[in-house]
Amino acid sequence: KSGFVGLIGRPNVGKSTLMNRLIGQKIAITSKKPQTTRNRIQTVYTDERGQIIFLDTPGIHQAKNKLGEYMVKVANRTLSEVDVILWLVEPSTFIGAGEKEIARQLSMVKAPVILVINKVDTVQKEQVLRFVDAYRGLLQFAEIVPVSALKGLNTDTLLDILYRYL
Ligand code: GDP
Ligand code: MG
Repeated sequence: KSGFVGLIGRPNVGKSTLMNRLIGQKIAITSKKPQTTRNRIQTVYTDERGQIIFLDTPGIHQAKNKLGEYMVKVANRTLSEVDVILWLVEPSTFIGAGEKEIARQLSMVKAPVILVINKVDTVQKEQVLRFVDAYRGLLQFAEIVPVSALKGLNTDTLLDILYRYL
């Protein structure tokens, strides 16, 4: 099996950290500063089941300048080129205009969308469940998977799930 997987979501939700965790290497730069990832970074994960090409993108957000516009364009282009989309969110921020805009864009895409609730190490389980419920109403997700990219919680399960869609 093989295919392309796009990582999208707001800046700072942990897209680069998750990609590094899944491939087991530190390729994409991660940081507390938003907009660390300015271009698209492509990495390849290989195991006995096949090969997954991850496309880490700058987050989708309201562009405030030319660089911002370029970054949003890169993220949007990625959506039409991948087999599966991982939409990363973090359970500290609730659904706002930014999330609704991402959902609107994703509703026009053919690829299955997996909602990844990252940073579950920072909140109580109840909050994660409330989060799942809130997001269910936003878009038809293929799967909803809670993970901690930083601690490596549930990230192997996410890989298993990904292979099901390739
Ligand atoms: P990106 O902008 O979406 O690529 O986000 P980054 O991967 O650069 O991560 C942004 C910040 O969130 C960094 O300080 C990461 O260490 C932190 N982070 C990422 N994943 C997790 C996680 O699962 N748990 C916690 N506590 N922090 C995380
Ligand atoms: Mg990044």
